[in-house]
Amino acid sequence: MSSETVMKWIEAGKSIATDPTIKVLCPVCQKTYLQVTDISNENNPSEIERQMLCNKCGAFNALRLTR
Ligand SMILES: [Zn+2]
Repeated sequence: MSSETVMKWIEAGKSIATDPTIKVLCPVCQKTYLQVTDISNENNPSEIERQMLCNKCGAFNALRLTR
């Protein structure tokens, strides 16, 4: 992954952490918006994992958030 792509993931993560409904282009292919899914952590209910997935190229990343 290029450092430019890493920076785009960081920017995408910041936006999506604030608002999961926000439309953020895939940092890898930039062809479609990331699909956001929240997964609760069974071991730690105060924490959620917010997953970001691109349906076009399969790029994936996840954030850990505290409720
Ligand atoms: Zn993509």
